Amino acid sequence: MLKKLIQTLRSPLRRTPPAPALPIELPRSQHALERERISRYALSVVDRLEKAGYQAYLVGGCVRDLLLGFEPKDFDVATSATPEQVRAEFRNARVIGRRFKLVHVHFGREIIEVATFRANHPTGDAEDEAQGSRHESGRILRDNIYGNQEQDAQRRDFTINALYYDASGERILDYANGTQDIRLRQIRLIGDPEQRYLEDPVRMLRAVRFAAKLDFEIETATAEPISRLAPLLRDIPAPRLYDEIIKLLLGGKAERTFELLCQYGLFAPLFPASGEALERDPEYAGSLIRQALANTDTRIREGKPVTPAFLFAALLWPALPERVRYHQDRGLPPIPAMQEAAHDLTQQQCQRTAVPKRFTMPMREIWDMQERLPRRQGKRADQLLENPRFRAGYDFLLLRESAGEETGGLGEWWTRYQEVGDSQRREMIKNLSREDGAPAKRRRRGGSNRKRRTSDAPTSGDE
Ligand code: ATP
Ligand code: MG
Repeated sequence: MLKKLIQTLRSPLRRTPPAPALPIELPRSQHALERERISRYALSVVDRLEKAGYQAYLVGGCVRDLLLGFEPKDFDVATSATPEQVRAEFRNARVIGRRFKLVHVHFGREIIEVATFRANHPTGDAEDEAQGSRHESGRILRDNIYGNQEQDAQRRDFTINALYYDASGERILDYANGTQDIRLRQIRLIGDPEQRYLEDPVRMLRAVRFAAKLDFEIETATAEPISRLAPLLRDIPAPRLYDEIIKLLLGGKAERTFELLCQYGLFAPLFPASGEALERDPEYAGSLIRQALANTDTRIREGKPVTPAFLFAALLWPALPERVRYHQDRGLPPIPAMQEAAHDLTQQQCQRTAVPKRFTMPMREIWDMQERLPRRQGKRADQLLENPRFRAGYDFLLLRESAGEETGGLGEWWTRYQEVGDSQRREMIKNLSREDGAPAKRRRRGGSNRKRRTSDAPTSGDE
């Protein structure tokens, strides 16, 4: 009897992995995805791979966005071919990435990203840890274990990102109930949410990004661990966080994204000094940041250019006065204190989110401009107008005013100065009182709800 039981336990049947789950298949008549809206290059990549005997599907954001009627940002392909096999099929292909090896197939300026089906890393797998693919915290460091399509679906982040489009059959394959979540308009992680965030904390930011972009809810179980796990973002390499922030804030839904980031405790780990400023003075800091983000969204909608320099200038600005005070209390005069404060803040932010120098430099120039805009006497106003940073500096001044900073009508003065002719300009300069033309010398430590004066701004001080 016992022998028989042991035999049964050892029987090959028990060792066979569970049969692969079948996807829900939606034929052309049951989905709204129009093949004509897919990049012809993406279609040609899929076609070529299929003709070579591999499986190939469009996957991820492009399928999701097309089902929702959005224009996809780019087209990703998932295939059973390895990166080397993919490369062998195309003349214009390059293997890229370390953490995640992919192939980029180039067609002029368009790039089709082709990824091999991958499997999830088994948790607690000693071999996995020994190979250095998984951090002891559970974070996945490398992700190059190939698998089949079902496994590929399971290792993706959200159900709505795990839909495959079979271009030749015009079918959608759904392994994770993604089409249902599209109908329910919700962001739901595949698998156990906590474990999936531990594997990759950036998924918390992605949840917020997609919720804002698509105007979806984050489903309860997916939302629940976020506030608790938000501090894990501190362990993410700064360049990756910078990339994510750019997607979060330059995707056209920055204002909503900011609300969600704050709601889930994700803002402070990304912007520590701004997070503190928001706590000290939520009304002023919140309104300045929100206004900056709303302006960014509007500019994107209107097809106007936006720069991360301006955004970072705004995000960090509310944190400056505290730093300036700190240095002044230690005996530095206003201008050096301001320079030191700006330097500190920039350094601290870059450690967290690796903002490239090409943006921190103009960011500092926008701040410097705030100090120079009040000083208009003699030839200064005209020289400022010539400054390549004038426009950004002036826009930033208006932003500060819209958040309640009191500048004595400086923004209006500059608006008018740009509109009028030469003789009126001379008149405007002549009419400046000494105080208007020179920097204010006294700083006031304003309470949170009081109107701010220019002299409260961290940039004020003597020349
Ligand atoms: P968009 O391109 O609009 O930002 P996307 O969904 O295409 O959105 P990508 O970052 O381009 O996002 O990633 C492509 C796909 O790869 C995703 O749809 C998802 O299936 C998978 N993916 C990306 N990042 C992760 C991650 N951190 N964890 C799990 N799967 C991911
Ligand atoms: Mg994409």
